[in-house]
Formats: sequence, C-alpha cells, structure tokens
Amino acid sequence: MNYVPGDLRDQLAHVGYDVVQAGLVCGSGGNLSARIPDEDAIWVTASGSWLDRLSRNTFTSVQISDGAPTMIGTIPPPQIEPTSELALHLALYRARPDVNAVVHLHPQTALLLDALGEHIRISTTDHAFYLRRVATVPFRMPGTTELASLTAAMAADGTDCLVLSQHGCVVVGDSVELAHKRARNLEEAASLTYRALAAGRLENLRDCPEEFLDRLHGSTAVTV
Ligand SMILES: [Zn+2]
Repeated sequence: MNYVPGDLRDQLAHVGYDVVQAGLVCGSGGNLSARIPDEDAIWVTASGSWLDRLSRNTFTSVQISDGAPTMIGTIPPPQIEPTSELALHLALYRARPDVNAVVHLHPQTALLLDALGEHIRISTTDHAFYLRRVATVPFRMPGTTELASLTAAMAADGTDCLVLSQHGCVVVGDSVELAHKRARNLEEAASLTYRALAAGRLENLRDCPEEFLDRLHGSTAVTV
C-alpha cells in the first residue's frame, strides 16, 4: 500500500538498503532481481554491488531464457557485469512463472542455525503467513549452475524460502514487497529459534497453532 512506488529498480534499491541496515547481509554480499512486466527479462544487481548503495544504474537487464544482456524499450543494457549468482536467479524465474522477485542474502542467524544443524522453527502467525515452510538446499559451490538447478528444483513445488547451506538464503515472491517481507521474517524466525536454543529451551518452543495453519492452507482468507 505504501511501499516504494514506480520503477522496480527503485523498489530493489529500497530492499538493499533495508536489509543491510537490518543486518541481513554484510555490504556487498547477496544480490537482488525482479521480473520486468511483459518481458522475458529481469533487472538484476551488478556484480560486487554494495546493497545499501544501489541506484538505477547499478542494475542490468538480462533475458530470462538465456541470460544475455537485453534492451528494455529503447534503453540498452548498461555495460556492467550481472551478479555472479545470475544462474540462480534465472533458474528460479524459469521454474516458477508466479515469481516476480528474487532476494538472495547471507543472513547470520539463519546461517548459524544451519551450521549448528538446526532448522528454523515457525512459531508465530507472522512467520507461518510469510514463510509457510523453509527448505534447506545442501551445499553446492556458490555461483554454479549446480547450485542454481538444485535450488530451482526444490522451489518448484511452491516453496518460497530456502536456506542455501553454509552460504545464504534465497526468498522469492510475486512482488518485490512480498519477497522483502519474507526475507525479514525468515531472519526474524531464525533469531527467535536461536534465542530459544541459546536459552536451552528449543524443545519447548511451540509451533504455530494448528488452527491458524489449517486456515492458511485452506481457502479462507487469512490476515496477520
Ligand atoms: Zn551468496
């Protein structure tokens, strides 16, 4: 409703600034993209971009089908290299026609839990609503087509939130705003899980009430 209006690059720049401020990523770790309406193309961050210093000219446009630079309208693609995780973004857009935004970050608490062999618990209605479920992708080398194809295969069933083991997370959404909310809620759920673990009370952490989950998975509209 009051999210950043207008150009998708402005929305992604807002995500980048916010996630760095929130500690979900350190400077230039992670990368962002959005599907351009009515085009077989995405805006994607340039290689090495600092996420809290993004502007329209720090994005480049590439085709989803083959990753080649492409013109948007009369605007030629900037002469900059896309992120080294471009294959990951492209594989997700190909596997999920419903996805219009991909956010890849390196959030510390989610990664700490993964390194400790713990999964992120979903305890609150917010976390259940935004995350639904969280899958863990076994480690593959960053930037490889192997990581891209395995992640896309695991997201193909509609899973929107994935932890890339010992590397980061990737969240998708039908809008930049929804992917942004999911990224924030994923790390918040990880933080809640970690605090229960640190307090020695993880086994006491209750799951989100069944009543809410049933409504969420049913046809009735649910709000949080
Ligand atoms: Zn990464």
